Amino acid sequence: MEVARNRRPQEADALHQEEAARELRLCTSCGRSIDIDANLCQYCGRDFRLMHPQVQARPDTEENVIIYLMSVLVPLLGIIAGLYLISRQNESDRQTGKVCLAIGVVVLIVEVLVVLGLALLSAG
Ligand SMILES: [Zn+2]
Repeated sequence: MEVARNRRPQEADALHQEEAARELRLCTSCGRSIDIDANLCQYCGRDFRLMHPQVQARPDTEENVIIYLMSVLVPLLGIIAGLYLISRQNESDRQTGKVCLAIGVVVLIVEVLVVLGLALLSAG
């Protein structure tokens, strides 16, 4: 009887959670790591089935456009913002950061080339 009680279902659950540890996301309500497929946050009880991705994506996209535009106009600021976003835990933030950083680097290189080209032209 005692042997059977030693194998508690909780232990099996803990093992499963460790196996699935790679597929985690952060709860938008309490910020803790939860299963990527979870419909409910196990910590604060937030129901993710009510959240439609399209509704959530709209303000994100508008925000991204401003950040991308800023990267084009002020590439150095874009690179800094990109590095900051990449260091964050949120996957969509990191994705935005990568694009932001890429735009900043490319625009900066183009601007340096243009300035160098103009300098060479005026010197020659
Ligand atoms: Zn939560």
